[in-house]
Amino acid sequence: MIVFDRVSKIYPDNSIALEEVTLSIEPEEFISIVGPSGAGKTTLLKLFLAEEKPTEGSVYYESTNIHTLNKKEIDAFRRKVGMVFQDFRLLPNKTVYENIAFTMEAAGRTDSEIESDVPHVLELVDLMPKIWNFPRELSGGEKQRVAIARALVNEPDIIIADEPTGNLDPANTYDIVQILKKINDLGTTVILATHNKGIIDLLKKRVVAMNRGKIVRDEKAGKYFV
Ligand code: ADP
Repeated sequence: MIVFDRVSKIYPDNSIALEEVTLSIEPEEFISIVGPSGAGKTTLLKLFLAEEKPTEGSVYYESTNIHTLNKKEIDAFRRKVGMVFQDFRLLPNKTVYENIAFTMEAAGRTDSEIESDVPHVLELVDLMPKIWNFPRELSGGEKQRVAIARALVNEPDIIIADEPTGNLDPANTYDIVQILKKINDLGTTVILATHNKGIIDLLKKRVVAMNRGKIVRDEKAGKYFV
């Protein structure tokens, strides 16, 4: 379980990014964090990943206060989280296979694990036919599917998708949302930050709406009204 307990974040220039945010996320939950630009979504995710420290309050993962971990422990914790970004962040000079293999090598996985798991995650995102292609030969939706496969391959507890459909057309957006839903159904917690109203309505999952550093709404099978 993830818990934000009265978390505030004020950046050194006095920007108030979060104000007394309290939020619990259950294992295997699918939660969307919505809100306009500047609402504090990215800061919330950065605090969870220990990329920023809270000014007040605490962030816990499975009862551990993330901000009391040392560097080695933070690295181990981050391996439990797979990240997906709006701009895909694939390595341009590596094939689809190599992009995913690279992440597995970095996590110390063996060659035989790599050979068996890369095709397996590519099946999951329905992209086996492109295994030997380079990112420049893929559409935006296909690139994002590679990024999701890469985020998944080390079997994280949690996938964080930060505006994953920001560069995609409606058809690809739909596909990516369905894949995230499938991953969640298989037991991975999914945290989706977005301001795409369409996807939220489609998902019918929990929606936390933020504005100016505060949670302004938390709905179980929510709709996006901000
Ligand atoms: P969102 O992801 O919802 O757009 P952010 O968390 O990026 O929101 O930003 C929340 C507020 O914090 C904004 O007012 C933003 O300008 C400010 N902010 C974000 N990052 C920094 C930073 N590194 N330094 C100073 N202010 C920041």
